[in-house]
Amino acid sequence: MVSKGVPIACEMIMAKEYVAFDPKMTGGYPAARDLYYECGTCGELVPSLPADNAFCSCRNIIVDVEAGRISIKRHSDVRLVRQRSEA
Ligand SMILES: [Zn+2]
Repeated sequence: MVSKGVPIACEMIMAKEYVAFDPKMTGGYPAARDLYYECGTCGELVPSLPADNAFCSCRNIIVDVEAGRISIKRHSDVRLVRQRSEA
């Protein structure tokens, strides 16, 4: 029996899921490897646990790795996103 090769897309599909967060309730911003902050002004995603300092183009979101701090200027403009890679 001969099976015909079927091309399979090997691209990783990133599943995006918005997570509700309230820094006033939690006393800070959540940070995890699969969590990103999405800026509503410039549309960029900033990882919550970057290897180096990270910020979006309009500097609404700034992650200071050395200080272990995430600063967000306009909370209403920022959404927390969980990205999962699915095979
Ligand atoms: Zn921005």
